[in-house]
Amino acid sequence: MNIEQNLKDLKEELGDDVTLVAVSKTKSVDEIMEAYNAGQRIFGENKIQEMTDKHKELPEDIEWHMIGHVQTNKVKYMASYVDLIHGVDRMKLLKEINKRAKRENRVIKCLLQLKIAKEESKFGMDVENMNNLLTSEEYANMENVKIVGLMGMATFTESKKQINEEFGFLKKIYDTFAKTHPDLKILSMGMSGDYKIALENGSNMVRIGSKIFGERNY
Ligand SMILES: *Cc1c(COP(=O)(O)O)cnc(C)c1O
Repeated sequence: MNIEQNLKDLKEELGDDVTLVAVSKTKSVDEIMEAYNAGQRIFGENKIQEMTDKHKELPEDIEWHMIGHVQTNKVKYMASYVDLIHGVDRMKLLKEINKRAKRENRVIKCLLQLKIAKEESKFGMDVENMNNLLTSEEYANMENVKIVGLMGMATFTESKKQINEEFGFLKKIYDTFAKTHPDLKILSMGMSGDYKIALENGSNMVRIGSKIFGERNY
């Protein structure tokens, strides 16, 4: 795997308007440094412990994105440094992030995860819950979190038609909410296998791992 070349090719394909999150889960500090030395500064991890260990060892100017499902009791381990939490899917979690961010004197940016996949295993909120959260007084009173967009994961399937429909649905919901919530600027959708379909549907942030670092063994 030539990490530098992979990044260069991807950057060219994505252009300037799409943010690339390099998903480095299970990858070593050395591999991340290879991407860092090629200019990449945004990295995504799905486990808080692993991200925190890497954060300690790696350069300060890396922006760390938590892209996995977040357990409420683990927010405290990343509150001092995490840049963006992609998978916020419940009020209880948002409250905990707000509380921990306050102790750190920070505002932590969050994305709300919409459930778009048909699979049971994928997390996320439905549209009604999302609307309730966004318009709640409780959220309006939180000073240390800021919801800056939406995130979604499509079904793991060979059917491009289905993926296209799921991303199209997320884009539609994003556009609808963005009209009344001008803070919403980020639409995080697309991974190595489906980012082209995500881009066609208006994604402006892709989370890509194996296409940069190679297949994961575990
Ligand atoms: C692992 C992961 C990715 C990246 O997957 P690749 O197929 O390696 O690009 C993107 N998003 C989330 C939420 C992930 O867990």
